[in-house]
Amino acid sequence: MTKKFDLIVIGGGSGGLAHAQRAAEYGASAAVVEYGPLGGTCVNVGCVPKKVMWYTAQHAHQLHHVADYGFDVEVRGHDWAGLKSRRDAYVKRLNGIYGNNLDKKGITHLAGSARFVDANTIDVGGVEYQAERIVVATGGKPIVPDIPGAELGITSDGFFELEDRPQRVLIAGSGYVSVELAGVFNALGSDTQVIVRKEGVLRSFDKMLSAELMDAMRAGGIALDTGVIPQSAEQTADGIVLHAEDGRSFGPVDTLIWAVGRSPNTETLDAARAGVDMDQWGFIPTDEFQQTNVDNIFAIGDVTGREALTPVAIAAGRRLADRLYGGMEGRHLEYRLIPTVIFSHPTIGTVGLTEDQARAEYGDDIKVYESAFTGMYYALGDDKQRSVMKLITTGADERVVGCHVIGEGADEMMQGFAVAMRMGATKSDFDDTVAIHPTSAEELVTMR
Ligand SMILES: Cc1cc2nc3c(=O)[nH]c(=O)nc-3n(C[C@H](O)[C@H](O)[C@H](O)COP(=O)(O)OP(=O)(O)OC[C@H]3O[C@@H](n4cnc5c(N)ncnc54)[C@H](O)[C@@H]3O)c2cc1C
Repeated sequence: MTKKFDLIVIGGGSGGLAHAQRAAEYGASAAVVEYGPLGGTCVNVGCVPKKVMWYTAQHAHQLHHVADYGFDVEVRGHDWAGLKSRRDAYVKRLNGIYGNNLDKKGITHLAGSARFVDANTIDVGGVEYQAERIVVATGGKPIVPDIPGAELGITSDGFFELEDRPQRVLIAGSGYVSVELAGVFNALGSDTQVIVRKEGVLRSFDKMLSAELMDAMRAGGIALDTGVIPQSAEQTADGIVLHAEDGRSFGPVDTLIWAVGRSPNTETLDAARAGVDMDQWGFIPTDEFQQTNVDNIFAIGDVTGREALTPVAIAAGRRLADRLYGGMEGRHLEYRLIPTVIFSHPTIGTVGLTEDQARAEYGDDIKVYESAFTGMYYALGDDKQRSVMKLITTGADERVVGCHVIGEGADEMMQGFAVAMRMGATKSDFDDTVAIHPTSAEELVTMR
């Protein structure tokens, strides 16, 4: 007999687990289908192991500065393999915790790949399961370009499998994954090269952030080339060489990494059998309530093509459960003022409109404040990394609609400012807030 649930969630990543657990707390009988380890991209090949690597790079940076503070330290090396095995063990612990959480909440874990049979039925490994509602939370995967020799490269997934640190690395891509991985390799001593198709990195972010980060990357020793359209990659006796359409060549390198974007995990879903529409890239569009074009089928997280961030997937999943099972009519995620951090070197924190977006929305009715300085951390040595902060305001009351920071501590700075901006904070609210001294964050409340 076909097993029936109130809810089947396809995908045991950030969004799927959050939704299933919240729904189960409200009393829904739920199943989660997952063909990989629980936790999805973030836990296994995303935020979590990435942050471990970022911490590693931070330590490497600090080792350069400790002499300025009087320490006489000799660094004899770095054990990448040891680090990887501790990182893998940590991720494995998290996989176990996610499994236990499902058990505790009475959620069925179906290990395997889900396909739609119809709008209420899915097939997992030849067995059919039915549910009143189905939520698609299948996330995405890295794109590998369709050019000769592309298979010589790895992706961010492969980065987390590296047993040794390659000495020569070429990363293709301009997004946050590219600049974050470049920062890690560079800090740990690899010869690091980044190539981007257009004029710079992080092109969807405020131009100030992009320009400052490119300067910092180059000053830190990363070779960054723009306007490079990869045409082919080849294995030579000395390593992998990438050829560009304009005749330039890059390499030879030991490792080539494609960080050129992500595509949704929908091609094996048979979504058409349930009548679910997809866009030209395979993303599943939804309305503001995460509902697809089919009444009982919803989609959350990266598969929807919206902001691809873990807390966005989690928030969308929990709010959907609050609405469907918790009686909170109208509850949904507002996709605005979503703060985010780039774990580059230096870090970037940002929330709200870029200057270009603010001009497009408010015309000349905006005022921009900017401050550039060297943080006190760098006061004693020769390395003088800049911090730059930008506030964008609109209207006579100067409501803050954009806040962009690059520099020491930006990663831990932005969460609180995002709360203030959601509450409609104005420049005078910022000015009236007493500064915390001595910090970099205080610049945001002392700008003139
Ligand atoms: C290198 C990297 C670094 C990142 N860093 C950050 C960061 O610092 N901060 C941040 O907020 N976000 C970060 N992200 C993004 C974040 O990981 C994603 O936004 C988040 O994981 C999306 O959650 P999700 O639930 O939509 O999908 P996922 O977490 O990808 O989960 C989808 C799950 O569905 C499973 N699945 C797919 N198809 C099927 C099927 N047919 N049947 C069964 N199971 C299926 C997959 O195996 C996967 O486990 C990073 C991503 C990458 C790649």
